[in-house]
Amino acid sequence: MGEGIDYGSVTGYVHSTESFGAVDGPGIRFIIFLQGCKMRCQYCHNPDTWAMENNQAQTRTVDDILQEALRYKGYWGKNGGITVSGGEALLQIDFLIALFNKAKEFGIHTTLDTCGLTFRNDSKYLVVFDQLLEVTDLVLLDLKEINEERHKWVTSQSNRSILACAQYLSDKGIPVWIRHVLVPGLTDRDDDLEELGKFVKTLKNVDKFEILPYHTMGEFKWEKLGIDYPLKGVKPPTKERVENAKKLMDTESYTDYLKRIQRG
Ligand code: SF4
Repeated sequence: MGEGIDYGSVTGYVHSTESFGAVDGPGIRFIIFLQGCKMRCQYCHNPDTWAMENNQAQTRTVDDILQEALRYKGYWGKNGGITVSGGEALLQIDFLIALFNKAKEFGIHTTLDTCGLTFRNDSKYLVVFDQLLEVTDLVLLDLKEINEERHKWVTSQSNRSILACAQYLSDKGIPVWIRHVLVPGLTDRDDDLEELGKFVKTLKNVDKFEILPYHTMGEFKWEKLGIDYPLKGVKPPTKERVENAKKLMDTESYTDYLKRIQRG
């Protein structure tokens, strides 16, 4: 997007919003869930965001969304702000650029929650991606599975562009929180956890490395949409398996993020 653009009037296709998000970035946050995703994660708890067309979703302008978000600014304190999630937020990158630019005019902390699938390491794409990074304070990047073949099985897509995205963010020094959903029998193999941990260690921009234990709260949405839930009967990981994953990936060593995100 070039200069002179009226960012406030740019529209995005929005699935829903949440006023008091407490886990998708630092502090209390206003979360905007965008519609559309090309992954098909077996454990997805938002399958209603997948379709690029959805009767429940709304086309909304940047100004409209920000006006809604700003109502909650008093709760954000020093660390809060807005997070754009999905679905896959990067599918609407022009909207993100407009929204984050406008948010910056209000001094709002901006976080992008993405799986990184749409990332492309070509100059044309990077011109646009860099515009977004200029106004992005933090990226929450999901690394779902390090082994490419198993990644395809878990999500229906290769992880090559996702790992390239992680590397690019590291090269650019954009702070990231890496997140890994731990699903028994799917993403909790010791060898893959170890490999993932090694890969994350090579990145220079990781403020936090989180394990998100699988939960079944999204299962009813699959049923509502008439789609077979592939993980029927799979239980959340035990405390032991979560601890095992933490140890194998050395997640506890990424503890200085609070210092880095602390704003005056
Ligand atoms: S990337 Fe996120 S929204 Fe898309 S299928 Fe996976 S979990 Fe669901």
